Amino acid sequence: MLSARPRTKCTQTKKNRDGSKKYEYRKCCCGCSYRITLTHEGDMILFKESSLPASHDSSSDMKPPSSLRMTDEVHRWLDYLAHRHLFDPNYGAKKVVRQLRTEFGVSEDLIPSDRAINNRLAYYRRTIGQHTNKIEVVEVELRRYVFTGNEELYQPFIYLYDTDEDGR
Ligand SMILES: [Zn+2]
Repeated sequence: MLSARPRTKCTQTKKNRDGSKKYEYRKCCCGCSYRITLTHEGDMILFKESSLPASHDSSSDMKPPSSLRMTDEVHRWLDYLAHRHLFDPNYGAKKVVRQLRTEFGVSEDLIPSDRAINNRLAYYRRTIGQHTNKIEVVEVELRRYVFTGNEELYQPFIYLYDTDEDGR
């Protein structure tokens, strides 16, 4: 939506009293008087904009949008979400974008492309996902041999420690 408009940068965000709406105030990157206000409400984004003044420098719109680079913060959110939804096959870029907006309040121009997000999710599932899977399988297998006190003398057994949140 913003790509069809002058490039703007976020100057302020605000929430309404019950937190159901978030307002994102943006002004033109060229320094002219153009302003746009986005209202995020659930999945919806409404906007209000001022008219574009004659002094607007349209050459500034040609520069690549900053969404091409992922900030460290967005990267961390993305990893966090990827981790949380590691085993959810229906979890894709659309849901990530929604959560980046609504849960973490990431501004529009910092939201990565669907492709970048899907790459990251795929990377996560390939590396960390597989690894975690294997550990869980081993864990389930080992639980069958936990010492109960009723073992026959010849039966092998193991002691298990409680695992923490990370499964260690
Ligand atoms: Zn301008």
